[in-house]
Amino acid sequence: MNKRQIFDQVSHMETQIGELYEQLGHLKGDLGGIIEENHRLSVENKHLRSYLDQNMGNLSPDKNDKEKATVPGEGFDNLARIYKEGFHICHMQFGSPRTDEDCLFCLELFD
Ligand SMILES: [Zn+2]
Repeated sequence: MNKRQIFDQVSHMETQIGELYEQLGHLKGDLGGIIEENHRLSVENKHLRSYLDQNMGNLSPDKNDKEKATVPGEGFDNLARIYKEGFHICHMQFGSPRTDEDCLFCLELFD
């Protein structure tokens, strides 16, 4: 192998290392996104579970429907809390994260 060939090969490796470095940066960015998404889903899942638990509790046979409809109880407070923490409580998008703006469908539930 002459000096010219060695030089070309080293140049080629340099290019490949540059490309790998770039790919590594992209993967790192993707991983960050996945971790963020995972965290968001965990929080969302926690909210949905606690909502489900509370509402299953409300279905106990000794409470009649009238009482549930007229007395805003723990379940309602929980919904309000979930809304304030940035999640939809309306039927349209229940449990999905809200943007910063209020959702009219959610707000209707507070009236
Ligand atoms: Zn909503």
